[in-house]
Amino acid sequence: MELAFSPAQEAFRHEARAFLEAHVPAVGSLASLDTAEGFEQHRAWEQVLFEERWSVVSWPEEYGGRDVGILEWLIFEEEYYRARAPKRVSQNGIFLLAPTLLEFGTPEQRSRFLPPMAAGTEIWCQGWSEPDAGSDLAGIRSRAERVDGGWKLNGQKTWASRGAFAEWCFGLFRSDPEAERHAGLTYFLIPTNAEGVTVRPIPQIDGETGFAEIFFDEVFVPDDQVLGGIGDGWKVAMATAGSERGLSLRSPARYTEASLRLVDLYESLEQDLGSAAGPRGVIADQIAKAYAASEAYRLHTYWTATKVREGHVVGPESSANKIWWSETDVAIHEAALALLGEGAEVIQDGELAEWLDGYLFSLSGPIYAGTNEIQRNVVAERMLGLPRK
Ligand SMILES: Cc1cc2nc3c(=O)[nH]c(=O)nc-3n(C[C@H](O)[C@H](O)[C@H](O)COP(=O)(O)OP(=O)(O)OC[C@H]3O[C@@H](n4cnc5c(N)ncnc54)[C@H](O)[C@@H]3O)c2cc1C
Repeated sequence: MELAFSPAQEAFRHEARAFLEAHVPAVGSLASLDTAEGFEQHRAWEQVLFEERWSVVSWPEEYGGRDVGILEWLIFEEEYYRARAPKRVSQNGIFLLAPTLLEFGTPEQRSRFLPPMAAGTEIWCQGWSEPDAGSDLAGIRSRAERVDGGWKLNGQKTWASRGAFAEWCFGLFRSDPEAERHAGLTYFLIPTNAEGVTVRPIPQIDGETGFAEIFFDEVFVPDDQVLGGIGDGWKVAMATAGSERGLSLRSPARYTEASLRLVDLYESLEQDLGSAAGPRGVIADQIAKAYAASEAYRLHTYWTATKVREGHVVGPESSANKIWWSETDVAIHEAALALLGEGAEVIQDGELAEWLDGYLFSLSGPIYAGTNEIQRNVVAERMLGLPRK
């Protein structure tokens, strides 16, 4: 067993590090990507990454990538977080839709959609949830009806992250109301400026309005914007969900970098924290657990990546993965707020303010990408083989 990186992988790491050190904007210099201004600033950053082929390193070269393997992708992610580079405004496209396009898309669809996604000129949102169908995704009611040359879409989606600004949406619609719930769905690629689409922003807990409801009123979508087969929407959506819960969306570097910063924060405040047997000990314990959880996720991911290189396809274990990363994120930020004390709530600016922002966002981790209750059901039934009732 070889546990060290190869010289080529080390060279790749150095090249990535040099690029990032030279180009990453200062922490806090971009507005939030959930605001109109910040969305465009983050798009401009995607452009910088794309120009030197760092935006989608694992993709084939013809679509703007470097065609590197999963280990190199993990190395890039480590460098990306180490450099404290901006959040990826293209994340729904590059991390969720792209792997699905590579698996189910036609060659024409891949050539049409992947390059502008890599360049950040077309940014995607996910149109799955509906007011009465979140956890129960197969219960969606938005419908697609066959018309000459394509489909007419009607219905409503909600909670589309950055849907207020995105150019495109990948959505699930019911194309056969007579079929069994999972069998009657189809996956569509829809421009948000199509006639009949209305996007309505939803204010979040922090007042930003990246979320959106999306209404579809007789929206025409041509046949070549169906991804996968008619009626195959559930299968295609589960491939996307696997990327969302598994490795793609939340790589371990996000958590290992945050837990290292947490340790630094502890060291900077240690003398104000009282005795080792009192609050200091309790907080140190919390920090050690959060740090260990991030490290465990990193090591588990390298183990999974090795299996993937040997042909393993990640299945329901992506649900266990999702529970782990989302709960680790909460643990890291809870420990940070415990360290900062009540004053954390009133820190408005600078690096320390990020802990409160990060905490608020971490609370949504157990909800988005499918709630952790649902992931625990998947783990129980599909990994452990337990009965449904
Ligand atoms: C930050 C964030 C970003 C999001 N981005 C998007 C996006 O871009 N696109 C998109 O389509 N959606 C998005 N969502 C929506 C998200 O997918 C849903 O909120 C989620 O699937 C839960 O659905 P719901 O809100 O309708 O809750 P419900 O399904 O109504 O669930 C309510 C509660 O009941 C529990 N519950 C429901 N069914 C079961 C069951 N069978 N067993 C045990 N417990 C159960 C749930 O766990 C939850 O605690 C986002 C959500 C958040 C918070």
